[in-house]
Amino acid sequence: MTAHTAADLAHIWLPYTQMKTAPYPIKAIETSGSRITLEDRRTLIDGVAAWWTACHGYNHPHILEALIHQAKTMPHVMFGGMVHDPAQKLASRLAQLLPDNLNRVFFTDSGSVAMEVAVKIAIQYHLNIGHQGRTKILSFRGGYHGDTLGMMSICDPEEGMHHLFADILPPQILADLPIDEKSTQQLEQILEQHHQSIAALVTEPLVQGAGGMLFHSANILKTLRSLCDKYNILFIMDEIFTGFGRTGTMFACEQANITPDIIALSKALTGGTMPLAATVARESIFNAFLSNTAEKALMHGPTFMANPLACAVANASLDLFEQLPRLEQVQNIERQLQKELEPCRSFSGVKDVRVLGAIGVVELDKIKDPDTLRRLFIDKGVWIRPFRNIIYLTPAFTITPSDLSLLTSAIVDVCRNNI
Ligand SMILES: *Cc1c(COP(=O)(O)O)cnc(C)c1O
Repeated sequence: MTAHTAADLAHIWLPYTQMKTAPYPIKAIETSGSRITLEDRRTLIDGVAAWWTACHGYNHPHILEALIHQAKTMPHVMFGGMVHDPAQKLASRLAQLLPDNLNRVFFTDSGSVAMEVAVKIAIQYHLNIGHQGRTKILSFRGGYHGDTLGMMSICDPEEGMHHLFADILPPQILADLPIDEKSTQQLEQILEQHHQSIAALVTEPLVQGAGGMLFHSANILKTLRSLCDKYNILFIMDEIFTGFGRTGTMFACEQANITPDIIALSKALTGGTMPLAATVARESIFNAFLSNTAEKALMHGPTFMANPLACAVANASLDLFEQLPRLEQVQNIERQLQKELEPCRSFSGVKDVRVLGAIGVVELDKIKDPDTLRRLFIDKGVWIRPFRNIIYLTPAFTITPSDLSLLTSAIVDVCRNNI
């Protein structure tokens, strides 16, 4: 490793990091496919795909070409009172891809903000149609929807990240996912009692990602859909992690055969190249914002909204989904993950092994020393970031079987010897 001094990091504040005690971060200088090159020229196989975003691998030529072309033509222009082809094309393609009448696309530049917009739309929708008092959001234990103040109020409060702010966050309604009879009854009770104050229910479909890669069945989403219909509550799906093939279908909601009222997309939207997010609402919701008075309009507008570079690369990413067998690749990854992570199940300290689409998870009783474990993976030439009590893989869909085997064997090795 190249020698570093404290001064090198003197002006950087890293995410989720106790900077006094954390080990020095590694420095990346180049990426390609599923590999990250470090400054000492070693390469790591990326098991995380840049926080679940780089679904086509790094530096995909088709995406780079779109980026360079757009950079030469029009890197950015404001979106107020002005539109452009990359955004119009992307919005109509998303509307085509999404089920039913999820037709109206509002662009932002991060997942958290896409979810903020989803919540604002839901609350204002009720006001616009004359439902007073529906200002709360119902969310689920284990959920994660972003780090902004509004989103912190609907994340799982016990996950440690947000408890310091508890006093200033708006009180919301928290429930358990209806995974069995008891929790379903409890949810019904909550809704029966509080539905007149609830604007929307929010969940990550099939997989609660940052909450620990917790899976639930598609039937649960059906239950939620029918409860929302019964109580006139909007259903917001946070597909920021699951969207674009990660769970085996283009969107996770397809597996339940239901349509949410509002959906939030980000992470893999641009194939991991540019920050971009989208909040997509049903046409009927959009229509409730139309009137002859200004008050009913949606008052939101990020400066870099619908950035043309980001929209151009998102279009290029969708081209790749159209032209290449991405969902088959996800299926192949799923099979390989199932087979190759299975041995972990028999090791002591391993609580569960689970796979869905291109997500492979080994859940442990406890990870005693995550920093040492992370170091060990780097020494094995793989980029795997255990958190909480899980070790997981969310590789690029383009990863080769042999690279994927190197990732899984690193995990099997570590679980066998070091837990
Ligand atoms: C990552 C993530 C977010 C937040 O997105 P940011 O771009 O980090 O703001 C919200 N919801 C889910 C499900 C996510 O995985």
